[in-house]
Amino acid sequence: MAKILVIAEHDGATLNPSTAKCVACAAQIDGAEIDIAVLGSGVAGVAADASGLDSVNRVLTVDNDSNDPAIAAIWAPQVVALADGYSHVFGPSTAFGKDLMPRVAALLGVNQISDIMSVEGPYEFKRPIYAGNAVVTVKAPAEHPVIATVRTASYRAVDGGNSAAVEDAGVDVDLPSHTRFVELQTGASDRPDLQTAAKVVSGGRALASEENFELIYKLADTLGAGVGSSRAAVDAGYVPPETQVGQTGQIIAPDLYIAVGISGAIQHITGIKDAGTIVAINKDEEAPIFEIADIGLVGDLFSIVPELTDALS
Ligand SMILES: Cc1cc2nc3c(=O)[nH]c(=O)nc-3n(C[C@H](O)[C@H](O)[C@H](O)COP(=O)(O)OP(=O)(O)OC[C@H]3O[C@@H](n4cnc5c(N)ncnc54)[C@H](O)[C@@H]3O)c2cc1C
Repeated sequence: MAKILVIAEHDGATLNPSTAKCVACAAQIDGAEIDIAVLGSGVAGVAADASGLDSVNRVLTVDNDSNDPAIAAIWAPQVVALADGYSHVFGPSTAFGKDLMPRVAALLGVNQISDIMSVEGPYEFKRPIYAGNAVVTVKAPAEHPVIATVRTASYRAVDGGNSAAVEDAGVDVDLPSHTRFVELQTGASDRPDLQTAAKVVSGGRALASEENFELIYKLADTLGAGVGSSRAAVDAGYVPPETQVGQTGQIIAPDLYIAVGISGAIQHITGIKDAGTIVAINKDEEAPIFEIADIGLVGDLFSIVPELTDALS
């Protein structure tokens, strides 16, 4: 029987929804027994959240000051110790998981499977390649633990309502000292996080300046949406890099995605393939974004966006 350990992503206070999506992926494996590992410092609240997730058998906590903030180099040997006896270890395909899981795989001497988008069997998974233009089926050898990241945009979070047992895992391993936390630099924003926002408004190169991006912020605030961007807008310095959506940015799956002045390059589309309804505003009716848009508005964004914002206010 598959025994799966999911590594919880959290900020010390709140469980990131990516964890519930990893559990949804793990639950696709027939008869899987699913535990969640919560590493951190003072993680009782996060562990309680994790124990509420459907399909979870146990929550294992590793409460240690060295685990806060989360540094992949320090977490990895502890995850390896926890992995003993598990057939699979899953983490989210977020910046957190992409940092941690390859280290876990390397320490265990196995290959990592990246971006699981569906489970075909306990050791067989589908994952996207070539920026999502093709899907490949990967078979992992059953004699080694499967270390994998889960493409969170492909899964809906499992529901709550469970009350799994919470246990102290008591891991005792030597922690590396070569990597230490210096400082976290992040663009503070009250807007919804891109990964979890139900609605996202993104702007592209067409906005032409940081000041003009105010139009995107206004529309987003009117809708209660997160703010995204194309790489061209980031490269031009109109918006910070954490807003970038796409192959080298964030892969997101909001219910509503509004692309404003974005052409629809394949690298951008990769980031929004799983969005519910896609609305595109572009003055070029031939723009590739219209090929995937559910609703297209052809015209000048500088008149459409203010009109739309006013109409929705
Ligand atoms: C390896 C690699 C990785 C990449 N990763 C990413 C990624 O993660 N995310 C990403 O977004 N890109 C990525 N790119 C870049 C990508 O190829 C495109 O260059 C980029 O997405 C283009 O951004 P854009 O649509 O804002 O700009 P453009 O392609 O310049 O499009 C601007 C659009 O705005 C429209 N427009 C202009 N003026 C107006 C107006 N007044 N009103 C309405 N519409 C108007 C134009 O018709 C045009 O369609 C990557 C590229 C490479 C090579």
